[in-house]
Amino acid sequence: MTSDSQSESGGVVSSTALLGPPRVVCRFSCGAASAVATKLAIAKYGTVEIYYNNPGSEHADNVRFINDCEKWFGQKVNILKSEKYSNVDEVFEARRFLVSNRGAPCTSEMKRIPGDSVWTWGCVEIYGYTVEEKHRVAKWRENNFEKTIECPLIDKELTKADCFGMLARAGIELPAMYRLGFRNNNCIGCVKARDNLDYWKRVHLHFPEVFARRAKQERDFKIAINRRTRNGVRAEIYLDEIEPGEPKGADPQISCGLFCMAEHEALEHGSNTVYPTKPKVSE
Ligand code: SF4
Repeated sequence: MTSDSQSESGGVVSSTALLGPPRVVCRFSCGAASAVATKLAIAKYGTVEIYYNNPGSEHADNVRFINDCEKWFGQKVNILKSEKYSNVDEVFEARRFLVSNRGAPCTSEMKRIPGDSVWTWGCVEIYGYTVEEKHRVAKWRENNFEKTIECPLIDKELTKADCFGMLARAGIELPAMYRLGFRNNNCIGCVKARDNLDYWKRVHLHFPEVFARRAKQERDFKIAINRRTRNGVRAEIYLDEIEPGEPKGADPQISCGLFCMAEHEALEHGSNTVYPTKPKVSE
């Protein structure tokens, strides 16, 4: 009789190995870390299934980055899209809502639902969380014990900076958002970038049309993404009230993935809800 064992990041090496190789699903986010995690998964498992949830509002340079990564992986990246919405703006307009402490509707519609559609019992999921996020992964895993999750970057103690270096050595240019000074390669004008005026100054600087659209949505829906403290008073600040200027500080680490989805699910549905929806996989 065999027993299950656990990798350092907590991924279960399951006795299902007796039943043949597992289905391996790499959650490729178009970020540097998930690219390296996918490469490490391919080195471990050989053929894997690579999925990218396209929310329709990320930088156009992601197409180039995906092409470069496909050559590096030697495997195709499958694109998952929402069947209801083409981009995050359509979600915001349909819901008349942007974000709150409980999360953002775009995460659910554009990432969780399409992503859950390719999950099956017993599959191994590969995530590009880095060693800096080790403790958050541990907490998330406790609430999602039915899933088999591997985080090869945590297992190998790799940081985000390590991933940037590995991509550079592979001759792959980082996605444009990093090169413009953004910390994450998320949607342009991500509504989860809350309470960081420098992030929005950076959006204003590089993507004024997205900034203007988000500012109008705030007023239309009467929802301010940001709050700031002045003279000891915490208050909402709308995007059109931010004084223009060069961003000075660093962007926040914006999570649009398993942690915030898990928090949202726990609030809305209980911690282990799975949404079986037919995937829409495009070329
Ligand atoms: S990256 Fe930001 S804007 Fe895009 S889906 Fe996630 S939370 Fe929404």
